[in-house]
Amino acid sequence: MTLRPSRYNFFYPLAAEGAVLFNSRTGAAMAADEATARAIVSLLQSPEREHPAESNFQRLKDRLAREEFLVPETLDESDDVVRRRRARQQLVEGLNLTIAVTLACNFRCVYCYEDHSVAPMGRATAEALLHFAAERLAPETSLYVTWFGGEPLLNVPIIEFLSEGLRKLCEEKRCAYDCYMITNGYRLTAPMVRRLATLGISDFQVTLDGEREVHDRQRPLAGGQGTFDVLMRNLQAVAKEVSLIAVRINLMRGNIDSAARLVGRLKAMQAEAPALRISLGHVDNSTANCGTDAEALLTGAEFADCEVALLGEAGEGGSAKAELPTPFDTVCSAARLNMYVVAPDGALFKCWNSLGRREDAIGHIEGPVQDDANAWVQFQPEDDPECRDCKLLPICQGGCADVHIRTGGAERNCTPLRYTLPQRLAAWAFDHLPP
Ligand code: SF4
Ligand code: SF4
Repeated sequence: MTLRPSRYNFFYPLAAEGAVLFNSRTGAAMAADEATARAIVSLLQSPEREHPAESNFQRLKDRLAREEFLVPETLDESDDVVRRRRARQQLVEGLNLTIAVTLACNFRCVYCYEDHSVAPMGRATAEALLHFAAERLAPETSLYVTWFGGEPLLNVPIIEFLSEGLRKLCEEKRCAYDCYMITNGYRLTAPMVRRLATLGISDFQVTLDGEREVHDRQRPLAGGQGTFDVLMRNLQAVAKEVSLIAVRINLMRGNIDSAARLVGRLKAMQAEAPALRISLGHVDNSTANCGTDAEALLTGAEFADCEVALLGEAGEGGSAKAELPTPFDTVCSAARLNMYVVAPDGALFKCWNSLGRREDAIGHIEGPVQDDANAWVQFQPEDDPECRDCKLLPICQGGCADVHIRTGGAERNCTPLRYTLPQRLAAWAFDHLPP
């Protein structure tokens, strides 16, 4: 069998010595000392050269072939990437619901795209939603719910009603149930966390946009008052009681320094509260509202640099250990079947960004649904020549489908790894180099 190097290999020399080899199609990685790195270069350049059996060269060549850094000449790797992504898009593993129980909000964030005047979800719509879930949830699968808004904690009675009904449904159908809440955090007090725990809700995401002055300017109450002090007080009170609290910091050009100070403060809290995670959100054209000055937005490369500077080479979460990127994990859930965003009136969407755009609805919980015939499920990143030729396609999957769809392919939301992969792999290699 004739071998050639995989087109999805990434090989980076390390600053001190040695190198790291990574394959974006398989997720395989090797940290190599100097001598092994030289042998890898030689084998990748001349994979067909013969070596004595049992020699170190032959053993290394066998490993490179086993881990698919060397692949058969006949293998169409691009085709394999497309086939595996499509299979994942079509896979119906269960039901995934993002439920916006209200679009009302007690905040007025400068970049918010939602219409807060829409009526909250009422009991009749919630009952219809339970029927919809019962029809769509196959036995012995799983139901994953994201509680969303507006601010979901402005409509707790409906969350209680739905949680009870959905958990009962999962019991009847022997399905696993898991959920997560995205909240602005203002009402996430210790008593509220205990009330939500009885509903099975103990994973949260809240957003802070920097230290007090910047955060209060970007995320004030509807009446204009600041929210930073209340959010920090709530975080301190609940961080040890929940199983996950992810703090997202939306990054734009004007809040980088303030975000860096906030990251320092949150990292200090992590020692006492391991459930606290930190992530940075890239405010781009898909998430900024039309009033946001384009000059205020960071480019993908700038955002990636900030991510490394603020969170370290390990990337998201602010964790100490660098994780390898995982291929095929990032297929956008909007592009998958059996994933719905439910508006307060029961209208169905595919993408969270669509909640402010009625024309994006794909149906209603009580009416017909365009399951296949919608732009998100039909999104194929390889239709874009730049994505098709991109070595990061298996771990990026073309980025945000919504950006592609809305700009007709004129813009892409490239993974920050496009700019930070060498640092991420170097950090991983540091922990994995042979002693
Ligand atoms: S908290 Fe969320 S829903 Fe409320 S104004 Fe801010 S971005 Fe919009
Ligand atoms: S969006 Fe960018 S990084 Fe992602 S596959 Fe396309 S070109 Fe590559």
